Amino acid sequence: MTARSAGSLWAATCEPLAPLSALAADTRAEVVVIGAGYTGLSAALHVASGSRDAVVLEAGEIGAGGSGLNGGQVIAGLKHDPDVLEALYGESVGAQLAACSGSAPDLVFELIHRHSIACDAVRTGWLQLAVSERHLAALERRAAQWRSRGADVDFLSDRDAARLTGTALYRGGWIDRRGGTVQPLAYLRGLARAAMDCGARLYIQTPASRLSRRGDEWRVETPRHAVTARTVIVATDAYTDGAFDALRRTVVAVPSIQVATAPLPPPLRASILPGRQSVSDTQRILRYFRLDAAGRLVLGTRGSYGDVPVPVRTAAHERALRELYPALVELPLEYRLGGFVAMTRDGIPHLHEPAPGLLAGLGYNGRGVAMATAMGRLLGLRALGESPASLGFPITPVRPIRLHALSRMGARATIGYLQARDALERSLRGSPSGALA
Ligand SMILES: Cc1cc2nc3c(=O)[nH]c(=O)nc-3n(C[C@H](O)[C@H](O)[C@H](O)COP(=O)(O)OP(=O)(O)OC[C@H]3O[C@@H](n4cnc5c(N)ncnc54)[C@H](O)[C@@H]3O)c2cc1C
Repeated sequence: MTARSAGSLWAATCEPLAPLSALAADTRAEVVVIGAGYTGLSAALHVASGSRDAVVLEAGEIGAGGSGLNGGQVIAGLKHDPDVLEALYGESVGAQLAACSGSAPDLVFELIHRHSIACDAVRTGWLQLAVSERHLAALERRAAQWRSRGADVDFLSDRDAARLTGTALYRGGWIDRRGGTVQPLAYLRGLARAAMDCGARLYIQTPASRLSRRGDEWRVETPRHAVTARTVIVATDAYTDGAFDALRRTVVAVPSIQVATAPLPPPLRASILPGRQSVSDTQRILRYFRLDAAGRLVLGTRGSYGDVPVPVRTAAHERALRELYPALVELPLEYRLGGFVAMTRDGIPHLHEPAPGLLAGLGYNGRGVAMATAMGRLLGLRALGESPASLGFPITPVRPIRLHALSRMGARATIGYLQARDALERSLRGSPSGALA
């Protein structure tokens, strides 16, 4: 596999956004949103659609965080199965979490439709495929639980999986037709345009550096100017910095790296993912892949901290591509990128309201395209005055992870250990097995 690769596929294949600028004067708003990813822009869009004045402050460019870098897989649900959510959080909250996350892709595709967002949206389903018989049994239970809740899903045999993907590597799995794919940066820029069309004001290169309370208002300071508002929404996810240190310590930022091949030649296009579904597998260090609009195979898996934002090591990706699709060996890798995914200790996203008028939502555990969009809506509704009880999502206290400073070391060690076990099992059995994500 030759490495003729440069930067981000998504940046290279996306319509530019009209130029934005940094905040140039002190200002007031009804709601100030910090962070312009899916969470922040969906929140701003919902606030502005409710005829309230919203200002968004973004530390870098639009797309500097995970929302500009991800695999574009629109996935329903959370890491935990619906029955597990009900067992862990009680019937009522568990059912809310399942319903909210299960319908999150509907919101994504509805916003794309309503605001005419050109982002190569495809809704032919998400495949989760098993690398072992044990995982296959777990995926069959998962599919059954969602089907019993009315979701359009089906169990897949090994032959179904091979037909849908063009690789015989998997034992089977399930198809979740609620899911699909988008060009992730184009979707994000589309949300930004929609929010601005509704009246939101967006400022880039404007990091929020300090938050203070003045009477019943908040003052958000940036290096040169400040914004005053009754409500603040912090939407900084894996990129949360020291300005919100307690929040930063509620998640562990884990690196994920993606590569994209050159467009597949026509004979391979006909056999590899012919239905344009996206795939995640159940390897301990999971691999996810899809085609982009030009027919490039885009594959991601966990990487090293040193490979964000510019990956230098892509050996694991090249090995995965060879294993999945040996015919792709001759194709050059055209693009590579790395970003951070925010993982929570309990595996579910968190919605916080630590003080009156102060809201935060984060921690999507690799499923933020749909879930961050849904969280942004919840934050927006809460900022518009919706009561916590009618939101349909639990509001929880900010609980920093104990010994957070060690979590990056722990994550690094865990990733190395799981990669080694996957590799050992691949070589011993011809296929890995492990903990279902
Ligand atoms: C490589 C990769 C692949 C992924 N693949 C998928 C996938 O296929 N499907 C899926 O569902 N999810 C995927 N994810 C996860 C998904 O991208 C995230 O969950 C989602 O984008 C989070 O959105 P967000 O708006 O909460 O945060 P982000 O998009 O990270 O946005 C946070 C923003 O806050 C800004 N910020 C931080 N601090 C400040 C500050 N002090 N002041 C102002 N701004 C600040 C940052 O610059 C950033 O732009 C992937 C993530 C990565 C990195």
